[in-house]
Amino acid sequence: MVQLDEKLESILAEVIKRNQGEPEFHQAVREVLESLGRVVAKRPDFADDALIERICEPERQIIFRVPWIDDKNQVRINRAFRVQFNSALGPYKGGIRFHPSVNVGIIKFLGFEQTFKNALTGMPIGGGKGGSDFDPKGKSDREIMRFCQSFMTELHRHIGEYTDVPAGDIGVGGREIGYMFGQYKRLTNRYEAGVLTGKALFYGGSRARTEATGYGNTYFVQSMLATKGTSFDGKKVVVSGSGNVAIYTLEKVRSFGGTVVAMSDSSGYIVDENGIDQELIQEIKEVRRARISEYLRIKGEGKGVYFVKAGDGTIWDVACDVAMPSATQNELTGKDARALVKNGVIAVGEGANMPSTPDAIRIFQEAGVMFAPGKAANAGGVATSALEMQQNASRDSWSFAQTEARLAAIMGSIHDNCAATAEEYGAPGDYVLGANIAGFVRVAEAMRALGVI
Ligand code: GLU
Repeated sequence: MVQLDEKLESILAEVIKRNQGEPEFHQAVREVLESLGRVVAKRPDFADDALIERICEPERQIIFRVPWIDDKNQVRINRAFRVQFNSALGPYKGGIRFHPSVNVGIIKFLGFEQTFKNALTGMPIGGGKGGSDFDPKGKSDREIMRFCQSFMTELHRHIGEYTDVPAGDIGVGGREIGYMFGQYKRLTNRYEAGVLTGKALFYGGSRARTEATGYGNTYFVQSMLATKGTSFDGKKVVVSGSGNVAIYTLEKVRSFGGTVVAMSDSSGYIVDENGIDQELIQEIKEVRRARISEYLRIKGEGKGVYFVKAGDGTIWDVACDVAMPSATQNELTGKDARALVKNGVIAVGEGANMPSTPDAIRIFQEAGVMFAPGKAANAGGVATSALEMQQNASRDSWSFAQTEARLAAIMGSIHDNCAATAEEYGAPGDYVLGANIAGFVRVAEAMRALGVI
């Protein structure tokens, strides 16, 4: 762990004291504070007026009950959250996560990360995050709809196109956004397309939004590889997860000449030495909503295809040149990082939010592995959400090519901004430092301009 200076250490101690039992939030704050030592040394004014303390405190936190009725006619209860973290740069913006692990600390860490990520995109969006401990696994379509409607029945009074604009995250995709938008429209009697992003095309969605996070991470890593005179061409890549982010990472890596040899879900991972078959993964995950082991059952044993059950090993045991963790927080530990380094990994791009533990990041950086932190590398999703908001505001709909070109340009400028900031602050090649400082400075400048609020 990096030693913090006295002032930053006391800010962290206060955050820990005021937010007990929220280790993920402490982890996310510590990582940013570790980068801010160099900022405060160069620009002591950024520590004035409790600016850093204010950035660590969400503007508003909403916790609510979501009652719903399951298919057996039983009443069920879940707990839901919306943390409106920072609106200095624009309306709160960030996804909604449905997963049994969701609690206020998880949503707070995600909202905190989102604030800096959104700032890095250069778009006019603040940071927020929401979710529920509802587990979509095994639920019928009707149960999902009733849950989304009940969830929105409370949430609708807190959001709006100029206030707070939710989107998807783990467990929330196009289907759920549709049910939520339907209920919002019904409750408000307004066709306010810009209140949610990640919508389907026929009611105000943006082309390339579904692909954006995975494509964006791949663009970012491609730029990072280019700084060392190399590219994805001919590289072996491991992508954890098998949701949207992972699937479109696979698609883009392949178009750049790389081969994705492994993917996973919570039940385990599959390896296909010939390259994972994207169509088959999409059939299993998006149509059948089944487990990833189905891949082996359909493809058949042998021919370089195998499945490893969760607990019998991790996907990071698979040798690769580039690792792209795209499942969930803290999925890649120090032990995993050591295995990857031993197997010769040269670059890591985080598709998920905070998938690498602090230990893992240190091991990568000490080994000279290029490391792209999620708040920079996975910003393509939310950046394209901001493009969706733009299209909604002008009642326009752009082509796929136009939207993807904007995404590619945004990712290029995030990469260059992080690299230049790292260099300016005396740590060339340190994308963690570059992303944290560049994101912080943009939010901090805006907050200062708006006065003590
Ligand atoms: N949940 C995504 C993220 O972590 C997307 C958020 C959005 O599009 O608002 O950035």
